[in-house]
Amino acid sequence: MTANETRDCLDPWLNGFIQYNGDVVPCCYIRVVWGNVHRNTAHEIFESEPARELRRRLLSGELEGACVFCPFRPMTTIATLRARVEKIFDASAEHPVEDPR
Ligand code: SF4
Repeated sequence: MTANETRDCLDPWLNGFIQYNGDVVPCCYIRVVWGNVHRNTAHEIFESEPARELRRRLLSGELEGACVFCPFRPMTTIATLRARVEKIFDASAEHPVEDPR
């Protein structure tokens, strides 16, 4: 892994895995809980400190834990991942998702 590389992973922006008890984790490889669907809104879960930290690490290439050895997402450049994330937010601006609460 070089200094300009990171995982080509959009999961922390797009997905959350809901466990049997309502806990939400970022993917099937990481067990850090972002929140719980019985107690938190989707906004609270995706803006939780561990969610923001995982996204920061992916965007900076400061990978740790499961992301270092992830078998699901290939390596890419930081610039490429940043461009993909920006494209998501451009698309969501055209089709905003409203919080039903
Ligand atoms: S472990 Fe893999 S799938 Fe999970 S957030 Fe990290 S890179 Fe993405």
